[in-house]
Amino acid sequence: MELFRKRIDLLREKLDELGIDSFLTIDPVNIGYICGFSGSPAVLVISKGLPSLLVPRRDEEQAGREVGGLVEVIAVEGSVLEEAYGFLKKKGVRSVGMEADKISHSEWRKGSWRMRGIRRVICKGVVEGMRMRKSPEEIDAIRGASRVSVEVFGAIPGFLSPDMSEMDLAAEIEYRMRRGYKARAAFDTIVAYGPNSAIPHAIPTDRVPGEGDSIKIDLGAKLHGYCSDMTRTIFWGRPSEEMKKVYGIVLEAQLSAIDAVRSGVKAKDVDLAARSIIERAGYGGMFVHPTGHGIGRAVHEGPSIWKKEDTVLETGMVITIEPGIYIPGLGGVRIEDTVLVRDDGAEVLTGDAGKDMLVLA
Ligand code: ZN
Ligand code: ZN
Repeated sequence: MELFRKRIDLLREKLDELGIDSFLTIDPVNIGYICGFSGSPAVLVISKGLPSLLVPRRDEEQAGREVGGLVEVIAVEGSVLEEAYGFLKKKGVRSVGMEADKISHSEWRKGSWRMRGIRRVICKGVVEGMRMRKSPEEIDAIRGASRVSVEVFGAIPGFLSPDMSEMDLAAEIEYRMRRGYKARAAFDTIVAYGPNSAIPHAIPTDRVPGEGDSIKIDLGAKLHGYCSDMTRTIFWGRPSEEMKKVYGIVLEAQLSAIDAVRSGVKAKDVDLAARSIIERAGYGGMFVHPTGHGIGRAVHEGPSIWKKEDTVLETGMVITIEPGIYIPGLGGVRIEDTVLVRDDGAEVLTGDAGKDMLVLA
């Protein structure tokens, strides 16, 4: 609870700086971060006095248990957002910060009518900015989720068999997270064999591994509300010379980007550290996504590790480093770690999963 109290206080300070007397969010991840409620839909209103959480009546008991005495729970019938508009009006607030990017156009328009006289201020990214820097407790949670990913991945060579399809392997991975670690998959596990691995976010099919196939496995666990994210590419039988070469390039790019991570470095310079190696090797056009992303309560959050991102990395941020090369018709290689930014460098939280080329069968 202490953690939530601190976050509410910090958010209030930010509202003061912006000259706004209240704040409203419908984002379930932001709501969970600020007050601990895990349900959806809901609206959290921060203004004078106790913060208020508006939930559908069916979620009233759950909300009461999760937020304790820190937040007043208000059970409503109908749309929580429309009720929140009326609530702000009744409370007599003069201005409200809203995450306009998360509210539909029609709901925004309803707000103009229901909140006549209240100044609305677009407050995009305020909570997301707070979420970027993790507290020691959050880092511990991500560390735990990372350990689950590493251990589940480590078991794969022991059970992967020639009749195991991409779907089977993805299901087995997620089952082991739940059964062995009381964790959940942080996202739908990606398993892609051979040519399918050339699709960055492939959806598992019933393909079974063929001789020389690359096997791309992107898995993440969610434990105590926090995510990990990790990719390894292994091989079923001897890979082709080209895939071997590509593996070496991606690994060099990934290590170079990890090496570039430290407090004070711009996100785009970390992207460049990986991208320049892949470009120099002639595969720049086949590295079709950012080098990484922030991770925490959500799998994808700020900052993006991308060539246009000026955000300066700070101690306590947790990001992924995941360059890849995808060759249509042949296959793809991606190597991804979850990494903690420190004053003097990076701590690789998923580092115990080896990255030397692994050939099975
Ligand atoms: Zn991933
Ligand atoms: Zn990722």
